[in-house]
Amino acid sequence: MKNTHDTQSIFELSKPGRRAARLPACDVPERKISDLLPAAAIATAPPALPELAEPAVIRHFVNLSTQNMSVDTHFYPLGSCTMKYNPKRNERAAAMPGLADLHPYQPAETLQGMLEMLYELQEALQEISGLEACSLQPAAGAHGELAALLVAAAYFRDLGENRTKVLVPDNAHGTNPASAAMGGFEAVTIKTTSDGFVDLDDLDANLDDQVAVLMITNPSTLGLFEPNMQEIADRVHRAGGLIYLDGANMNAILGISRPGDFGADMQHYNPHKTFSGPHGGGGPGAGPICVTEKLAPYLPAPVVVKESRVAGCESREEKRKAGDSRLTTHDPQLPLFRLDYDRPKSIGRVRSFFGNVGVLLRAYAYIRSHGPDGLRRVSENAVLNANYLLSRVKHILPVPQGNRCMHEFVASAADIKRDKNISAMDMAKRLLDFGYHAPTVYFPLTVPEAMMIEPTETESKETLDAFAETLFRVTEEEANLLHEAPHSTPVSRPDEVRAARQPVLSYPE
Ligand SMILES: *Cc1c(COP(=O)(O)O)cnc(C)c1O
Repeated sequence: MKNTHDTQSIFELSKPGRRAARLPACDVPERKISDLLPAAAIATAPPALPELAEPAVIRHFVNLSTQNMSVDTHFYPLGSCTMKYNPKRNERAAAMPGLADLHPYQPAETLQGMLEMLYELQEALQEISGLEACSLQPAAGAHGELAALLVAAAYFRDLGENRTKVLVPDNAHGTNPASAAMGGFEAVTIKTTSDGFVDLDDLDANLDDQVAVLMITNPSTLGLFEPNMQEIADRVHRAGGLIYLDGANMNAILGISRPGDFGADMQHYNPHKTFSGPHGGGGPGAGPICVTEKLAPYLPAPVVVKESRVAGCESREEKRKAGDSRLTTHDPQLPLFRLDYDRPKSIGRVRSFFGNVGVLLRAYAYIRSHGPDGLRRVSENAVLNANYLLSRVKHILPVPQGNRCMHEFVASAADIKRDKNISAMDMAKRLLDFGYHAPTVYFPLTVPEAMMIEPTETESKETLDAFAETLFRVTEEEANLLHEAPHSTPVSRPDEVRAARQPVLSYPE
């Protein structure tokens, strides 16, 4: 099966004196390091780095990489995460030397191309959300949630209102109540009905002049579009609160419905979900936020702005249109795009420099290469694929909240657990043996034995058919076989909490 290279850490493979490359003999006079550096800067012993020849290093890491699952190698129906295929053109665009080699401390006039793209990305995100202002700074979706809640807090402080509560439906992602708590608010849970929608009576019971924000995921984590969205937004607004849209599920509604039109005052995007950014592995990610005009002054600073007017001159845009070649974006005297730090009401920085620009450029390339019609087709196909798979899966596992869905659906293994002693976890683990990444399991908490399945628009009918057939095959297997799955991975069932807290990075003998 696996050779020993796969099962030893790089430190165990180390042999003293092994090298990837050797330097030629020194042909200039040698000097002591202590003559060149202050004593405090010199380590007492060399760092404990492994010593290996180059082929051993390459084989070790390439073999390790093949033990993982990825969107490039496997179908990855991980609900809520939108694990779509990332077109390689986005990688090439972001890696172009004119972008990748820039330094954030370069003067703005030497960064015009980059700033123009970031500016256009802000505009595109605003257009897609139907909101008026944007900050690209936050480093992940959860970070965007926190930044937007700090914006809301600053807004209410300015109004002289002391609002302390953030309402969060019970099927929300765990980051929502966590962000509320980190933002200094009290997170209050709102019930959802058995259909999976916000319970309007429970909303009313909790709505008062202490409520700052209702955070809502729409379409929800059940893959359902909230039918009372407008009514919910109206009630929260009447009580003086704001609506925050958790935009993790934007893949279902691009170019079809805009959060700003259905009542949202703020939202985040997860470019690593919706706009095909690299996903997982600990980042980097990004979590740009869009807000309404009245919240714009509080956004993190700086934001990228476009000069429309220079003192004493007519609009530079007009000059450009009129063909005044001296005033192009490259005119070093007069940068058209710049970073605006002069924002007295801003909550300040939430991330160094301009955010995770490499991730943002991939999102820009994705959005521009699809265009408005293409983005709409992305969502139409994501919803079509999810409904096709739903129509096949519901005969194997019931989908309690309906026969139709948006971009994902939540099936329940509760019946099969009762009848055959096969849990959602058992099925998820067994799918790994058949070359499928597991769906999200046990989330949302409102569905027993939940399996949240999101195929995304980039999968073919053949892949969806094969997955449904494999799911069926797994449910027909012996329970004992499933309880010990997976059988084909180097480690079968680690204690997941301990594995995360106390990682042991070499394999057992
Ligand atoms: C992924 C996700 C988040 C958090 O986004 P990150 O980018 O992982 O921080 C929040 N809400 C929902 C519904 C999500 O799926």
